[in-house]
Amino acid sequence: MMKTDSPWVTDFMSRLEAVTPHETAFHQAVGEVVPSLEPVLDRNPVWRDGRILERLVEPERVIEFRVSWVDDAGVVQVNRGYRVEFNSAIGPYKGGLRFHPTVDLGVLKFLGFEQIFKNALTGQPIGGGKGGSNFDPKGRSDGEVMRFCQAFMSELFRHIGPDTDVPAGDIGVGGREIGFMFGQYKKLTNTFTGVLTGRSTDWGGSLIRPEATGYGAVYFAAEMLGANGSSLEGKRCLVSGSGNVAQFAVEKLNHLGAKPVTLSDSGGFIHDPDGIDLEKLAFVQDLKNNRRGRIIEYVEKYANAEFTPRDRDADHNPLWNVPADAAFPCATQNEINGVDAANLVANGCRLVSEGANMPTVPEGQEIFREKGVLYGPGKAANAGGVAVSALEMAQASSRTFWSREEVDRRLGGIMKDIHKHSLEAAEAYGRTGDYLDGSNIAGFLKVARAMHDQGVI
Ligand code: NDP
Repeated sequence: MMKTDSPWVTDFMSRLEAVTPHETAFHQAVGEVVPSLEPVLDRNPVWRDGRILERLVEPERVIEFRVSWVDDAGVVQVNRGYRVEFNSAIGPYKGGLRFHPTVDLGVLKFLGFEQIFKNALTGQPIGGGKGGSNFDPKGRSDGEVMRFCQAFMSELFRHIGPDTDVPAGDIGVGGREIGFMFGQYKKLTNTFTGVLTGRSTDWGGSLIRPEATGYGAVYFAAEMLGANGSSLEGKRCLVSGSGNVAQFAVEKLNHLGAKPVTLSDSGGFIHDPDGIDLEKLAFVQDLKNNRRGRIIEYVEKYANAEFTPRDRDADHNPLWNVPADAAFPCATQNEINGVDAANLVANGCRLVSEGANMPTVPEGQEIFREKGVLYGPGKAANAGGVAVSALEMAQASSRTFWSREEVDRRLGGIMKDIHKHSLEAAEAYGRTGDYLDGSNIAGFLKVARAMHDQGVI
C-alpha cells in the first residue's frame, strides 16, 4: 500500500485483507487506489453512504473451472481456468486472458480491479474483467496450445458474449491463442460475433489492435513530456519485456525519434547502446513471434549488444541500472522495486510510462513522486490496448472496417484525453500534476456515478 497516515485507509485495507487472505497482488492494487479516493468520498458523502467503494472491491462474479486436455505424449493435463467479472456499471465486462504459471485468483483480481478504472478512463462503454489460466504455453507445440485453448473455451463460452463479457489477450495470449479460442466459441454457439478482441483482421479484428498498447504507452509519455515543454526526440529509453507491448513501444519510440536500448524476457535482458532500430526490431519480432526464441539470441546477431542473465536472488534488476532518460516497463507486475526506482532516478531517468500492469511496487512509486519523475501509471498509460479493443467491438457490431490511419488517429485522441482528464481530476482534488491520483480519481468518478444511478444491486 502507498504510505498513508489516514486511519480510514488503514481500516479499509485491514477489512479487505481479512476477507481476502493470500490475495496479495489484489491488496496491492486496491492499496494503490484507495488513498487517492479519500478526498473524493469526503466531497461526495452520498457515495460513502452508498458504500460504493466497498461494493467496487467485490467482484460481481468469479468463475473458476477445470481445464483438462491431452498433451502430445498422450498424458492428461489438468489446469485451472478463471474469469473474474468485476464490474459492469458502464458496459460489458472487458479485459484480457492471461496464460502464465503464476496466474491465480489474487493476480486476476488485481488485474480485473485495475481494468475497471482503466476502461472508464478510455471514455468507452466497457466494464472491467480479467481471466486466464495457470497453463504455460512456453515450450508447448501448436497442437497442444490449440487443444488447451479449445478445452478452456469449452467452459468459458457459456459465461461470455458480445453484450456480456468480451475477453482479449494478455501475457501468453496473442493472435494464435485468440484464433483457437474464437474458433471453439464459434463452433459451440454457431454464431460469429465480436466476443473476443485481438482477432486477425481477416476475420473481424481491427487494424492497430496489436500495436495499440505499446503505441499508447509511448503517446502517453509524449503527452507528459509535451505538458512539460519537452519531447521524446533523442531520448534514451529502457524497455523491458519483448512481447506484444514491448515490441510496439520500441516501434513507436523509433517513429518519434527516441532511442530504445534494452529489451528483456524471463531469462535476462539485452542492452544495445547503438539503439534498437526498426531493422533490429524486425529480427526480435521474428524471433519472438514466429520462432518463439529467447532474447539472448539478439547478441548472437548484433555484436555490440550485451546480454545479462536474470538473477532471481538479486535485490535489484540491472536493466533499470542502465543510464537513460526514460523507462517503459512492458513485461509484468512488480518488475521495478524500490532499489530499481532509486537506481533509475540516480542514473538520470525523468519519465516512467507503464506499458505493463502494476510494474512498480508502492515504494518505487513513492520514490518517483518524491523525486518529481513524470510517472504514468499503467491504468492510464497502457489503456490504449483496451481502448482499441472497444473500437474493434464497435467496428464488429456495425460491420465497418476503419483504416490504420483512422484507428491510430482515434488512439492518439484517446491517449490525449486520458492524459488531460487525469491531470484535471488531480487538479480538482488538490493533487496537482499527480497522474496516479488523477487517473484513479477520473476512473472512479465515472464508475461511481453509474453505480449510484443503478441502485444497490
Ligand atoms: P507477452 O506475453 O506478449 O509478453 C510478455 C513479456 O514479458 C515477455 O517478454 C515475457 O518473457 C516477459 N515476462 C512475463 N512474465 C514475466 C516474469 N514473471 N518475469 C520476467 N519476464 C516476464 O505479454 P504482453 O506484452 O501482452 O503483456 C505485457 C504486460 O503488458 C503485462 O503486464 C500485461 O498485463 C500488460 N498489458 C498488455 C496489454 C495487451 O494489449 N497485450 C494491454 C494492457 C496491459 P517470457 O517470454 O520469458 O515469459
